[in-house]
Amino acid sequence: MAGFDISSGNLLEAISRRRDDYVIVHDFSSGITKIPDEMKNKFGLTTDMPRNFFEQWFKIIHEDDKNLVKTSFDNIHRGISDTHYVEYKVRDKVGGWIQFRERGTVIRDGMGNPDIYLATITNIGKRENIDSITGLRNKKEFENRIKMYIADKKNFGIMILNIDDFKNINALYGREFGDNALRSIGQLIVKSLPSHCTAYRLDSDEFGIIFLNALKSDIKQIFININNRTSVQQEFNGQRYYCTISAGCCKFSETNNSFDILVNNSHSALDFAKEKGKGRIVFFEPKLTENKPRELHLTELLHESIEHNFEGFEVYCQPQVYAESGYLKGGEALLRWKCDEYGNVPPSEFIPILEKTGMIAHVGKWVFEESVRICAKCVKYNPDFKMSINVSYVQLLDESFLDFIDKVISRYGINPKNIIVEFTESCFITERNLVSKAFETIRKKGIKIAMDDFGTGYSSLEVLKEFPADIVKIDKAFVKNIKSSNFDRTFIKFVVELCHDVDIEVCLEGVEREDEYKIVLPMRLDFIQGYLFGKPLSESAFSEQFLKVR
Ligand code: C2E
Ligand code: CA
Ligand code: CA
Repeated sequence: MAGFDISSGNLLEAISRRRDDYVIVHDFSSGITKIPDEMKNKFGLTTDMPRNFFEQWFKIIHEDDKNLVKTSFDNIHRGISDTHYVEYKVRDKVGGWIQFRERGTVIRDGMGNPDIYLATITNIGKRENIDSITGLRNKKEFENRIKMYIADKKNFGIMILNIDDFKNINALYGREFGDNALRSIGQLIVKSLPSHCTAYRLDSDEFGIIFLNALKSDIKQIFININNRTSVQQEFNGQRYYCTISAGCCKFSETNNSFDILVNNSHSALDFAKEKGKGRIVFFEPKLTENKPRELHLTELLHESIEHNFEGFEVYCQPQVYAESGYLKGGEALLRWKCDEYGNVPPSEFIPILEKTGMIAHVGKWVFEESVRICAKCVKYNPDFKMSINVSYVQLLDESFLDFIDKVISRYGINPKNIIVEFTESCFITERNLVSKAFETIRKKGIKIAMDDFGTGYSSLEVLKEFPADIVKIDKAFVKNIKSSNFDRTFIKFVVELCHDVDIEVCLEGVEREDEYKIVLPMRLDFIQGYLFGKPLSESAFSEQFLKVR
């Protein structure tokens, strides 16, 4: 062997002291590669003196970069080149992607055959344009490349892919599992692409592909290949899963001529793919947006409002009074939303959309903070003021929500006893374990819990027994026909009696008129919330009417 014995001494360790820079030496005749221990540990390379180092290393190089690395090595083997200078990403033991630059030189023997390969592999850090989970180019790169192609008037199109029901994978198996699924789906997408196409990771479970000079039929075929790969069972940590993917495409043209239009139109096409039953691809056509169902449009507009700092959202407050005296006890925070296209949209329409899309997690935090802020103002006038805040059970899926409650309450310096959270009955039924755990945590903080819309769910009493609330709010449906319906009157009286026996307070919703109030007054209700005592009002109108006059 020429030069020195690479199997002995600490020469290598000595010259590659820096944690993330590695010097490797490969002896072609023995097939032995000497690599620093640091490198072995970080990348889980197995043998002490690996004879198959390049094989192991190649396996963990990102799919995107494999061709480049392979070509460069082939050139060395074929004697075309003596230097190897490539940049590529490698996955470390814990699944993160690291960008490396490898500079290597081949020393040949007297016959011209490769003898020693000596290289430095330098960590050039997490690059801004690389997504850290999948190792793919990120959203910013996607945007830059598209803008460049637009400027050059290239013949190109884009595809936006979204994993169907990815929320379920995350919720069922946890985040680490979800990240791993994203990583492997990213790789499957790359493997399905011809060399002239590039894949990007966009938001959460969304990927993008840019096609140059591609035909619609080719794009369709690529999509089918991707779905064939992801829809077969995959496994991670012993858990099996599979998923389908939906996609929307839009081609650059005279009308689809800006980044925003291309992306929005691809999203519209993607929404259609989902509506039509998922696992399919839809190409954008103008008629998709012309007849766009209201719900899809609202979803988009809600997204925009959130991105623009919750523009169009406002928290209103409706008074709740003591049943007997009619004095103010507190208020319920009720969300309002308006947009230019549709004006005021009722909560019964936009709240279910927020819940379905998961946007409620974000909006719910904003509502909570706004409500606490308004509450802090009210408490200054009336220290016993209680603000009731609606919390959707979807928000309980977000582990950070309970900590968030603490932070907000202490930031505004109010006592938790001034806050009540309202949950609807339906959530008690679908998510028993989660809800009961969250209740315990919330109660421990000193916050009271109200069961909303009581009597409308399918088994209210059973639910109340399992999750005793502090307050029960009887739904307004029981007031509507109270004059004529003996059943409704009896129901209210019965609920009051039952709840009082176990120290639960009762609030009746929907009292609109004097005659209704007269009927319910003897029923020993604790609180009333209804138009008779006040409609939901903006913060300023509420303060004006209910705070100053005290
Ligand atoms: P809810 O929690 O049952 O809120 C009470 C609803 O009854 C409010 O409707 C209120 O305006 C209405 N209401 C109160 N008194 C009367 C009355 O005397 N007569 C009649 N006819 N209606 C009365 P709103 O504001 O339209 O809210 C509808 C639902 O939207 C709420 O029902 C709640 O489930 C949901 N919601 C509102 N804001 C939020 C929020 O911030 N987060 C969540 N998760 N849900 C919210
Ligand atoms: Ca409520
Ligand atoms: Ca209610």
